[in-house]
Amino acid sequence: MRIILLGAPGAGKGTVAKLLTKLDGSVQISTGDILRGAVKAGTPLGKEAQGYMDRGDLVPDSLIMGIMEQRLQEPDCQKGFLLDGFPRTIPQADALDELLKKLTITLDLVANIDVPRDVILDRLTTRRTCSNPDCQEIYNVKSNPPAAGNKCKKCGSEVIQRADETEEAIGKRLDVYNEKTAPLIGYYEKTGLLLTIQEASSDGVVNAIKQGIAAKK
Ligand code: AMP
Repeated sequence: MRIILLGAPGAGKGTVAKLLTKLDGSVQISTGDILRGAVKAGTPLGKEAQGYMDRGDLVPDSLIMGIMEQRLQEPDCQKGFLLDGFPRTIPQADALDELLKKLTITLDLVANIDVPRDVILDRLTTRRTCSNPDCQEIYNVKSNPPAAGNKCKKCGSEVIQRADETEEAIGKRLDVYNEKTAPLIGYYEKTGLLLTIQEASSDGVVNAIKQGIAAKK
């Protein structure tokens, strides 16, 4: 499948993407994960992106499009992809449209995961992430805590609170979402590809996406 996952930070895009990859071999492409990996590795991209990310701001569109142009042409995208956290602005959506035309790829669906703001705030402040850039497993201090000593259950690395998941940065990220990303809902509605989903569980969202794709075929 070839889909875009839209939704505010904390809406569950990453969790849903991971579940969807198990269905048909489509790969999850998370620009946030790619950027965090670059920051941790200290690459030029990471150095440029870090300040924006720590403040909860968006990284410039030009940097993101450079990443995506390369990533979408890698062989593992042949079976399909789940775009998680991209596009985030109208210029990114326009550039993606051009890129997909150039690569003769068509999208199946744009899934807008719509979660109430209080649920999002609670999720983000209790979320913890594995610090290993190759793992980035997600935990929740209330519902899914890491192993003893704050260790990742998958790889044993330290589990941390992301710098952009302090209350101040979260408020900023939600404001940025409302201002810059939410307009994409109207943008994709016009294309006929949009499906807005209000399901409480990740499995519910996955089922709605499967049905949505089948209905559009
Ligand atoms: P995420 O994990 O998707 O919430 O992304 C974490 C941070 O990475 C965001 O707050 C932005 O600073 C940056 N980021 C991720 N994806 C994008 C994107 N498509 N455009 C601009 N910045 C992005």
